[in-house]
Amino acid sequence: MTRTTPTQITGILADQYGLAGALSRLPGENENYLLTTERGMRYVIKLAPDEHTDDVLDLEQVAAETIATSGTGIAVPAVIPTRRGSLETRFERPDGVVFRARVLAYVPGVPWGTAGVPTPQRRARVGRCIARIAYTLGSMTHPSARRTHQWDLTAVASHRSSTALIGEPVRRRLVDEALTLYVATALPRLAGLPRSVIHGDLNDENVLVEGDEISGLLDFGDCLHNPTVCDLAIALTYLTFEEPDPIAAAAEIVGAYHGVRPLSVAEIEVLFPLICGRLANSVLIAAERRRIDPHRAAWFETEPHAWRALERFLAIDPATATAWLMEDTELSPPPSPFAPRTQLLAHRRQRFSDALSLSYHEPLRFVQGRGQFLFDNRGWPHVDFYNNVAHVGHSHPRVVAAGRRQMERLNTNTRYLYDELTEYADRLCATLPPPLECCFFVNSGSEANELALRLARTHTGQHDVLVLDHAYHGHTTTLIDISPYKFMGKGGEGRAKPWVHVVPIPDGYRGAHKGMDRRAGVAYGDEVGRIIRAADRPIAAFIAETLPSVGGQIIPPEGYFETAFRHVRDAGGVCILDEVQVGFGRVGTHFWAFELQQVVPDIVVLGKPIGNGHPIGAVVTTRAIADSFARAGMEFFSTFGGNPVSCAIGMAVLDVIREEGLQRHALELGTYLRDGLRALMTTHRLIGDVRGAGLFIGIELVRDRDTLEPATDEAAAMINALRDRRLLVGTDGPFENVIKIKGPLVVTEDDATMFIAAVDHTLSDLE
Ligand code: PMP
Repeated sequence: MTRTTPTQITGILADQYGLAGALSRLPGENENYLLTTERGMRYVIKLAPDEHTDDVLDLEQVAAETIATSGTGIAVPAVIPTRRGSLETRFERPDGVVFRARVLAYVPGVPWGTAGVPTPQRRARVGRCIARIAYTLGSMTHPSARRTHQWDLTAVASHRSSTALIGEPVRRRLVDEALTLYVATALPRLAGLPRSVIHGDLNDENVLVEGDEISGLLDFGDCLHNPTVCDLAIALTYLTFEEPDPIAAAAEIVGAYHGVRPLSVAEIEVLFPLICGRLANSVLIAAERRRIDPHRAAWFETEPHAWRALERFLAIDPATATAWLMEDTELSPPPSPFAPRTQLLAHRRQRFSDALSLSYHEPLRFVQGRGQFLFDNRGWPHVDFYNNVAHVGHSHPRVVAAGRRQMERLNTNTRYLYDELTEYADRLCATLPPPLECCFFVNSGSEANELALRLARTHTGQHDVLVLDHAYHGHTTTLIDISPYKFMGKGGEGRAKPWVHVVPIPDGYRGAHKGMDRRAGVAYGDEVGRIIRAADRPIAAFIAETLPSVGGQIIPPEGYFETAFRHVRDAGGVCILDEVQVGFGRVGTHFWAFELQQVVPDIVVLGKPIGNGHPIGAVVTTRAIADSFARAGMEFFSTFGGNPVSCAIGMAVLDVIREEGLQRHALELGTYLRDGLRALMTTHRLIGDVRGAGLFIGIELVRDRDTLEPATDEAAAMINALRDRRLLVGTDGPFENVIKIKGPLVVTEDDATMFIAAVDHTLSDLE
C-alpha cells in the first residue's frame, strides 16, 4: 500500500506546526507516527483518509475532552493546533488520496499489551477506571454519537455472511458458535440495558499503564452511543488475551468495575456472549480485509490473538462463564434448579418405561426456549430446524401472553357459551376453503384423527379405511391399526385389521412411479382406485398426510390427490387430509398444503403447530358430514377441547403468522435452504434428493444414486454430528435415511447459511 512519505510528513510538521525532530512509525493498523524533537518533546501524528466527516472528528474531540476535564486523572491525547489554529490539516498523498493529519500530545505510559503480566492491582485499577469512564462519558451527548460502524458491538450479526470467507472448517465452526451465542443470548437483552456514549475500543493498545496505574487512554475513533456495558465487554476481550485463565482475570476486572458502577444481572449476563461476539467480529473483519488486501500486515496483527482467544473462551460453557464473572460481585446467578444430566437420565428410567425414547446418541437436556433457539442447561443455544410444534418460535411472547391473560379471566368448557370459541372457529374457517366450515376442537392430533374416522364412518355408514404406506396418524388403538409406520415397524403385529387397506406412498423419487409430473401423480392416484376395487368391501374413508412426513418428507407428484379423491368419492368414501405436520403456512406458497394440489378434502385434521406447543387438535369438515354425525344422536364432548384458553392461544398463533409474515418467510427461506442444499449434491454423492415445499424439507441420503441403497447409518451419524454443532434435525422415512427439516418458521437466513455449511462439513467428514 502506498504510504505517506516521511519527507511529506516532515514537511507538513515544519510548515504547519513549526515542529522538527526524529520520526518513527507506531505499531497498529492505523497510520500513526511518533515525532521526538531535539528537546525530547514527543508528539503523535495521526494520518487518516479524508473519509470521516467533521461531525465524527468533533465527536472524538468532545469525548476526549470530556475525559480530560473529568478529574479522573486519566490522560488523553490533547490536539496540538497548527500555527493558524486549526485542529487538523489536509494534504494530498503522492497517489492522489486526500488525507487528514492531526498532531497529538504524547500520552505517557505503556500499552496494556506490552506492559507485562497484569497484577491483581492492575486488573482492579482498570476495572474501576472503565467504570469511571462509563460515568464520565455517560454525562455527554453529541449528535453524531448515534451512529454505527464496523466494530459496533450491537451490529456484529451484520458480518455473519463473511463466515463463508473462513475456509478452515474448525475455525468457521468456532465463529458460527460464537455468533449463535451472541445472537441468541446477547442481542435479545441489549435493547433493555442502559446506554450512553462509550469509548468503543478499550483494547490492549489503547489502555496505557504506568506500573499498576492506568495512566491514559488513546484513540476515541470508535466512540458511539451504545449499551454502556459494551465498553467493559470490549476491554475484557482484549485485556485478558494473554492471561493463563482469561475468565478468572475478567472476573477480577468485573468485580472492581462493579464496586464503582454497580452492574445489573442482565449486564453481566451479556458480557460473555459479547466477548465471543467481539472476537467473532474481529476475525470476520480480518477475513473481509484479506479479500481487499492480503498483504497489508497491519490489518492482521491481532488476528492470531483473536483466534486463540476465541478457542479458549468457547471451551467454557456460557452459564459457567457468567457465574464466574459474578464471582467478585455480591450478585449471584440463580442457583441451578437442574440436577446433573446423568442423574436426570437415571431418574427418568426409574419413573418411565423404556418405550419412551430419547433423540440422539447423547440425549440433550433443555431448560429454555426462545424463537428458533433451545438452550441447554449449560447455556448453549441450539438452533431448532426440527420441532414444528413451536411454529412461530419457542415461547413466543404474544402467544404466552394470550394464554396467560385468558387463563386469568376464564377457562371453562363447550357446554357453556363464550365468545372465544366461535371467534376462533370463524378465524380458522376463514383460512380454509368452502365447504370446510364446521369445527370440532380436541387436544391432540391423535384425538382429531380418531374423531375424523368416526365422522367419516358415521357419514358413510361404512367401516373400511384406506391409508398410505409408512403413514403415522396417532398413538391410539385405532390409529395404530391404520398406521403402517407403527404396525409394520418395531413391535408392530403387521396389518391385523381386514378393514385397513394400504395404498402405495406417492414417492416420485424411490417408489414405482418416478418423477413429480402429472403422469406419476395420476399413476399413483390410480393405485388408490385399484386397491378400492381389490378390497371388494365398501370404504368409509381415505386418510393421508398431505405431504407424508414420517414416510420420508414426501411431496406427492402433481395430480395425485385429484385422482385419488375421484376414486374414493366414486366409491362413496370420504377424503381426510391430515395436516398435523404441514399446515399453517409452512409450505410457503399456501396456508394449507392441500392447496398445493388444488383439492379440498371433506375433512381436514389439524394439530401440532396450531397452538405453538399448547395442546390443541381440530377437525374441520363440511356441514353435511357434521349433520350426519349429529343425527346419529351421540353427544360429542371433550372436556378440554375448545376451552377459551386454547382458543385465545390458537388466535394468537394466527395473528403472529400473519403479522410476522411467516408464510412468506417460509417460502423464501425454504427456497434458499433447498437451493443451498441442492448445490451440495455436486460435491456430495451421498445426497440423493433434496425435496420439499417451504420449510418442509427432506434430504434423502443414498449410498448409490442408481440403486438408491439407503444411507441409514450415515443419516444417523449426520444428525448426531449436526447435534454436536448445536443444530437440531431428525431422520425419517421407511429406511430412516431422510434428514427432515421442519423447524419453527422463525429460523433466519443466517441460521440457514450456517446449516448448509454444517451439512457440507458433516458430509465431508462422513465421506
Ligand atoms: N398425525 C400426524 C401426521 C402426526 O405426525 C402426528 C404426531 N407425530 C399425529 C397425527 C398425532 O398427533 P399427537 O401426537 O398430537 O397425538
